[in-house]
Amino acid sequence: MSWEHRGFSILFALAMGLSNGGYLRAQVNPKPPAMGIPDSNVLVGDTSALAGEAQEWLIELVKINTTNPPGNEQAAAKYIAGVLAKEGITAEILDVGPGRSALVARLRSSAVADPSKALLLVAHMDVVGVDRSKWSMDPFGAVIKDGYLYGRGVCDDKGMLAANLAAFIALKRGSVHLNRDVIFLATADEEQFGDASLKTLIAKYWDKFAAAYAINEGGKVVLKNSKVQYVGVQASEKVAINVAIVAKGKSGHASMPTKENPVVHLAAAIDKIGNYTAPVHLTSIVRRYFEGLSAIEDDDIGKWMRVIDAPDRSEHAQRVLSEANPMWNSMMRDTIAPTMIQAGVRVNVIPSEARAMLNIRLLPGDTIDVLLNELNKLVNDPAVQLVVQPDSGLSAPNSSIETDFYNEIVKVSAKEFGGAPVLPFMSTGATDSAQLRLHNVQAYGLRPFPLAEEDDRRVHGDEERLPLAAFAKGVDLMTRIVAEFSVTR
Ligand SMILES: [Zn+2]
Repeated sequence: MSWEHRGFSILFALAMGLSNGGYLRAQVNPKPPAMGIPDSNVLVGDTSALAGEAQEWLIELVKINTTNPPGNEQAAAKYIAGVLAKEGITAEILDVGPGRSALVARLRSSAVADPSKALLLVAHMDVVGVDRSKWSMDPFGAVIKDGYLYGRGVCDDKGMLAANLAAFIALKRGSVHLNRDVIFLATADEEQFGDASLKTLIAKYWDKFAAAYAINEGGKVVLKNSKVQYVGVQASEKVAINVAIVAKGKSGHASMPTKENPVVHLAAAIDKIGNYTAPVHLTSIVRRYFEGLSAIEDDDIGKWMRVIDAPDRSEHAQRVLSEANPMWNSMMRDTIAPTMIQAGVRVNVIPSEARAMLNIRLLPGDTIDVLLNELNKLVNDPAVQLVVQPDSGLSAPNSSIETDFYNEIVKVSAKEFGGAPVLPFMSTGATDSAQLRLHNVQAYGLRPFPLAEEDDRRVHGDEERLPLAAFAKGVDLMTRIVAEFSVTR
């Protein structure tokens, strides 16, 4: 560009910016047509400008502190409503508690809504807390450094929130003909699964977002040696159940200990439970996952994946895979993690009670009673009781991996990532999708950003970060998936 041209651009930009309340970007770079020419085969064109805008939305969302508790999702909902209003889309803010809201917006395919076809784009606005002393930057400052955006929630789940918003807005800008309603839903209280969460939304407002298909977090695009190794599309998830171990004894002076010290009984019970390994139970989704992964893993791992079910070698194969990767271990069996211990008030006082908490993750279809029966036999101590806590998760049916939507996700993702395998996936963590599956929604999990292990393990941890290039790729992927599934060519 010549000097004259550059000078003109800057003057033009400034003039436009000043006359438009400072909203420079949209004026300098007019909104690109997100969709291609109708008679071309290309439904979605270059999305890089759209990703640039979505990056700004993500930055603003990170700056709105929605640490849960207390959540404060209403501020994020209002911000999103403002972004949508600029596009001529009227969103509805759904109140779910003081300072807590969800947001829903709909693009219609016809005058009468048909939930049996509708597609729901879901992401949550709340984030988990931070340990500020472990961050070298402000976790809510949305700092960009060396190609990464740092901030609480950039991966979980504000990145997806912004990508969903981009895919949704692209449909509106493209003035396309939709073959189904597309609904954008931003939820609250996902991280605590409390009274402001999706279960309340479903109970109070289900008809505002009832849909047959949904896309949510829960899946992953796995980056290994700078290449996408595979895409995991979550169609199922484990069920979280908390169980208290309660040991009862006799309190007394610590100078005269007895065999009835509950601290000793509790410690023995934790030792037995913590070293227990539940039997392997391969679900259909997990079988398909290992089958697909066996083709691309290193040969010494791949060969064990291929015989995971073989009568003579399965036991050894399952042990090798369990030891190779804690996620694979958890995908094959119920797991139990002791996480909290509580006992005593003074160092010289034997307490009358000692407690610990177990975080149990059941395979879908397994029941807690069967597992507790095993654990009670193992502990074999009348002073110790296992008590299921009321805050348990829900066991939901799998989403089908035969639907048109699943096939579309597979097709578009494979194309996006140069033919990388796309595998059905069961997440070991819980998501809002269980709620949706219980309402007959075919819900799939996909965090669309290619992340290396190094970045993946920062989710819920210190210095959470998202490579900006991965974000742009995720915006592109979501835009294409949504358009391919819901636009009539
Ligand atoms: Zn999340």
